[in-house]
Amino acid sequence: MNSDLASIERVGGSLCLDFVNTRASHFDPEAREYLAGYADLVEWLGGCEGGLDARTAARLAAAARAHPRRAASAFAHARSVRDLLQRVFAARAHARAPAPADLDAFNREAAAALAHRRLAPGAHWHWYWDEDDALEQPLWQVLASAVELLQYGEPARLKQCPAPDGCGWLFHDASKNQTRRWCSMRMCGNGAKARRFQQRRRDASD
Ligand SMILES: [Zn+2]
Repeated sequence: MNSDLASIERVGGSLCLDFVNTRASHFDPEAREYLAGYADLVEWLGGCEGGLDARTAARLAAAARAHPRRAASAFAHARSVRDLLQRVFAARAHARAPAPADLDAFNREAAAALAHRRLAPGAHWHWYWDEDDALEQPLWQVLASAVELLQYGEPARLKQCPAPDGCGWLFHDASKNQTRRWCSMRMCGNGAKARRFQQRRRDASD
């Protein structure tokens, strides 16, 4: 078990935003990547609410070991979609429409992913994925979450941890008065507070 993955904060409030936040900062081009490969992706998603159940995670991990080249290409694809989602949601957090090329790409990716969704009858019908061990399934789940958030998420509650003190992570602000400013106090809020405090002390002693 990769201990980094266990400790990574999931503060986005939805699967797609937590996936976007698997990079330490969206403002720093040198920022650390939390997911190094397909096995990390599966393990990380297994730890997410609404992510992968243990059986599916084990099946995908086994499929990846059997087909390492396909797993590497599924991981590269997932990472490029992550960057696309980052741009789409960052634009939305600032009340802007996505760039036309990003909108086209998102539509293509979402349509391809949702084409693998099937409905199963029951007391309440539910969605499932048509191929049990498709290596793309983690990405399909992330894209389904993104579509849902774009359709039903309240736009004013989608926020980005602000520059220059913050990290650019995206999150759903569920606070009562929509006053949440930072991805988390521990990651960014406390650092910004400390810097403001030091600045005030410097200003006072000038
Ligand atoms: Zn932050």
